[in-house]
Amino acid sequence: MRTPIGLISSAASERVLADRRREQVPTPFGSVEILIGKIGGHDAAVLLRYGEKMTLPSHKINYRANIWALRELGVTRIISQNAIGSVNPAIRPGDIVISDDFLDKTRTRPNSLFDDSEAWVRVDMTNPFCPQTRAALIRAATARSNRVIERGVFVCTEGPRFETPAEIRALQMEGGDIVGTPLVPEVVFAREAEMCFASIAPVINFGAGMAPAVIHTGPGSMNDMYYTDGLHTLIEDIIIDTAKLLVDEARTCGCGRALRGGFHGTRPEWLKHCSLDEGA
Ligand SMILES: [Zn+2]
Repeated sequence: MRTPIGLISSAASERVLADRRREQVPTPFGSVEILIGKIGGHDAAVLLRYGEKMTLPSHKINYRANIWALRELGVTRIISQNAIGSVNPAIRPGDIVISDDFLDKTRTRPNSLFDDSEAWVRVDMTNPFCPQTRAALIRAATARSNRVIERGVFVCTEGPRFETPAEIRALQMEGGDIVGTPLVPEVVFAREAEMCFASIAPVINFGAGMAPAVIHTGPGSMNDMYYTDGLHTLIEDIIIDTAKLLVDEARTCGCGRALRGGFHGTRPEWLKHCSLDEGA
């Protein structure tokens, strides 16, 4: 069996994930429900990060268990679907951003998979997102849309509230382009787990103070932007195409060797099959 692709999203329609079944995956950090099925005809594991009934806000998600559950299922590449707001006036609702960097503005989340171990790791973040997975997302997205922005700084805030206008102005000055709440620490833990990770982020609103207040439902709302106007379907099509592109590509990025050199302390017993097993 080929290595399954992993998708982390808030929802996954039958279009994007076919032949689905649920699987409860035990991890050292707790048990996680994963949907197993096919994306574009290929094996896939999908994690609904807010829970199936959207009961978990970003600051309450068990990020360590989620990433480790995907790893236990053999996933090496994760696509993260992030509907987000824009901080940059040049990036408008309807655009699709494939981020190449991030700013971490979270406050209460675990810092590392190894926080409860007698070990720590200093992973390199020169390329915070997997370059190979990003390239596949960009190829798939530009084939279907002329509104793809191939670089961007994703600001991850704590939430669950939206930002204030002053916060948005501060994030603009710090170089942020888009803003959302669940990216960090997913991207960090994927790197610590030696998995590839990249984000596809449809823009569905402007940050506070850049436009009239956000409307959640009804005409002109964020939900209309995403679901009624076809953006959500487009994103799912791009994810399907990306899975097809990646399935036959050998990993040429360095994500699978992230622990080499930066690992200190005693290797926890749950850390199996990683680059620390390779010779010097
Ligand atoms: Zn990679």
